[in-house]
Amino acid sequence: MTAEVQSGTGRDQSWLRRSAAAALWLSLAAGALSVARWILPPSHDYTAHLVPKAAPLVAAVCGLAVAVLVLTAQVRPERARTVRVGTGAAIVLGVWGASGLPLDGLRVIGLIPLSIDWLGFVTRLAALGAAVALAATGTLYGRVAQEACLRCGRTGPSQSTRPSPKWCGYAAFLAALPYPLIKAYWAAGGTAGTGDGKLIKGFADGWGTVILAALGVLLALALVQEWGRRLPHRLLLLAGAGGALLLVTVGLPGSYAALQLIADHGVHAVDGDTKAWVFAVVYGCWLVMAVGMAAAVWAFWQRHRKACPACSLV
Ligand SMILES: [Zn+2]
Repeated sequence: MTAEVQSGTGRDQSWLRRSAAAALWLSLAAGALSVARWILPPSHDYTAHLVPKAAPLVAAVCGLAVAVLVLTAQVRPERARTVRVGTGAAIVLGVWGASGLPLDGLRVIGLIPLSIDWLGFVTRLAALGAAVALAATGTLYGRVAQEACLRCGRTGPSQSTRPSPKWCGYAAFLAALPYPLIKAYWAAGGTAGTGDGKLIKGFADGWGTVILAALGVLLALALVQEWGRRLPHRLLLLAGAGGALLLVTVGLPGSYAALQLIADHGVHAVDGDTKAWVFAVVYGCWLVMAVGMAAAVWAFWQRHRKACPACSLV
């Protein structure tokens, strides 16, 4: 067993070096493009209210620092935390910086018939690529530093007696509730949170998002409750991971825009026909839900994954 574990970890750091090199070049590209956007501000920047201008640049600087550290210094367990914090900051800011990509996509395929900010689009693509490369780099660094299996991250047989962290699924469940509850309250004739007490425009069209929220509630519970184990595991993990990603890409820029509106005009400022505090509550909850969902997916995967083909640990 030990020999097999060793073969999974070895001193083979080629994948770590490859991912760090990818992170280095993509961070450089994202950083250079961010500076170019600073010097040549686009005439139609449709993400200005969603993303702080400095986010992609700070992400690129953090990513570059981590990549250089990984590529030039020896892997040491005591550096693992620094690498984790650096990659974490770069990933959050990078994903935030890339959160205009769905808008770019809708414009590119013509569903939003408006002009495309090409420089911004390429910058966001580079930022997302750097975030992915940094996620791989951070994960591999931790595994090499702990002498864990590079493929699965195990250092020994898993302890099935360890209690599963159910709080994350329940946190996601609770955070999923305010949005459909607010919508149901409005549908029942409530007017709090709306501008001039008017009902939300096109509210009847808005049930798609309520159905999605209800699915989110079920998904969060399925990941931590006994009955969830009977559902197809891969489908559950895929839905959970996709849901967490979607929630963070909408929740982060949404929260930022809501806080900006509150800072400028107060909690009762109205945007469209909704008050600022409603946006802050809903998008803030989606952020909490994203974190809870991601943690629940991780815990579920840890508990139910099969033996590793590289190290054969279970
Ligand atoms: Zn393994």
